[in-house]
Amino acid sequence: MHVYDDEVFKMACDQFEVIADYLSIDKNDRERLMYPKRAVAVTLPVHMDDGSTKTFQGYRVQHHLTLGPTKGGTRFAPSLSLGETAALAMWMSWKCALSNLPYGGAKGGVTVDPTKLSRNELENVSRRYMQEMIPFVGPHTDIMGPDMGTNEQIMAWFMDTYSVYMGYAVNEIVTGKPVAIGGTEGRREATGRGVVYLVERAMDMLKMDPEKCTAIVQGFGNVGSVAALSLALKTGLKVVGISDAFAALYDPKGIDVKAAEQHVLKKGNLRAFCQNNHVDPNELLTMKCDVLVPAAVDRVINSKNAGKLHCRILAEAANGPTTPEADLILEKRWDEIFVIPDILCNAGGVIVSYFEWVQGLQSFLWSETEVTDKLFRILEHSFTQVIRRAKEHKIAHRTAAMAIGVERVLRAKKTRGLFP
Ligand code: GLU
Repeated sequence: MHVYDDEVFKMACDQFEVIADYLSIDKNDRERLMYPKRAVAVTLPVHMDDGSTKTFQGYRVQHHLTLGPTKGGTRFAPSLSLGETAALAMWMSWKCALSNLPYGGAKGGVTVDPTKLSRNELENVSRRYMQEMIPFVGPHTDIMGPDMGTNEQIMAWFMDTYSVYMGYAVNEIVTGKPVAIGGTEGRREATGRGVVYLVERAMDMLKMDPEKCTAIVQGFGNVGSVAALSLALKTGLKVVGISDAFAALYDPKGIDVKAAEQHVLKKGNLRAFCQNNHVDPNELLTMKCDVLVPAAVDRVINSKNAGKLHCRILAEAANGPTTPEADLILEKRWDEIFVIPDILCNAGGVIVSYFEWVQGLQSFLWSETEVTDKLFRILEHSFTQVIRRAKEHKIAHRTAAMAIGVERVLRAKKTRGLFP
C-alpha cells in the first residue's frame, strides 16, 4: 500500500495528470512533481481535563522545496489523514506558484474534532503539535498558517511554543496570528475578500449587474462568512442561501447575513437560526442562484450534482470542492457556468500570509490598505493570466490555472537540478 493512499490524494493526482498530459510532461518529471518531498507523522499524547491521557495523530507534508520554504495551513479535523494532508500540500504548491509566491506547498494538521475539546485541551493539543514539529519547521524551511478548524488563537499558541524553545519571539514561524503578536492587518478577512474580488471581476466580465444577482454560500467559517457578508453588504448581491455543518438555509427574499454572523458568534453555529428557512444541505448547492460559493470541504461538487448546478459563476472558495469527474461535466457546460478554480479563488489567504511573513522577517508593519491593495494586484494578475490562457488554448479555467502553477515549479526544478 502507498503511504499516501487516500481518495483525496488520488483526486489531486488525477487532476495533476490532466495537466501533465496537457503540458506533455515526461514520466520522470511527473513523479518528481507529484510526490511530496517530505512527510512527518507524529503521535501527540495530551492531558485531558478528566485526568486521562489521550493520543492524537498529527501530520505535516512539505510538497517541494524548489522555490523557497514551504507554506501552508494547519487543519484540525476528525477525518484528517496523511493522504489528505498530502493532497492539500500539493494544491498549495500550485496555488503559491500561480500567485508567484516564493514558496513550495505544505499542509499539516491533527486528526481531532476541535469542537469536542475544552479550551485547555485545545491549547494542549496545539502546543504539543508544534513542539513535535520544531525539528521540521522554521521561518526559512516551513511556515505554518491557519486552515479549517484552526484560528488566530491556535496560531498564537504555535508561535509561543516555538518562541519559548528558541528563547526569543519568532513571529515569522507562523502566519494568521493575532495582530497583537505580529499578525498582519487584513489576514483574517483575506481569503473571503479575495473570493469576492474575483467574483466581482467575473461579474464585470460577464456583464452581470450585482444588484440583480443572487448568491448561495456553502460554509460559514472564516472564509464563507466573510465572503457572504461582503457579497451582501459591499457588492450588493442578495444572499439567498447559506449553510454550515449543522444547518442549511434558503430564502428567496434574501438572508440577513449580518444577523446570521451575530447568531454564530453567540451560539457557535447556524442550527437555531431562522428555522423556518431550513433546507436539505445537499440540495442547497443545486438551487438557483447567480453565484455559488462552496466554502466548506472538498468533493462537494461531483458527478451526481455537477449537471444540476443552477448558477452562472462557481467561485471555489474551498480547497478541492470539485472532483475531476465533475470537471468533465462542467467543461461541457463552459458557456453556462464560469468557474473560478480553487487555487485562484481562495489564494487571498496564502497571499496575505506571505505579506505577514515578509513583515515579520523585516520587522516592518504595513497598513490594511497597503495589504489589501497588494492582494488585489496579485489576484488581478493571476485572474487575467488564467482567463487569457484558457481562451487562447481553449481549455478549462482549472487547467489553465494549474498549468501556470505546474509549469513554474517544473521550470524551477529543471533549472536547479535534482535535489529540490
Ligand atoms: N489554509 C489556507 C489555504 O488553504 C492558507 C494557508 C496559509 O496561510 O499558509 O490556502
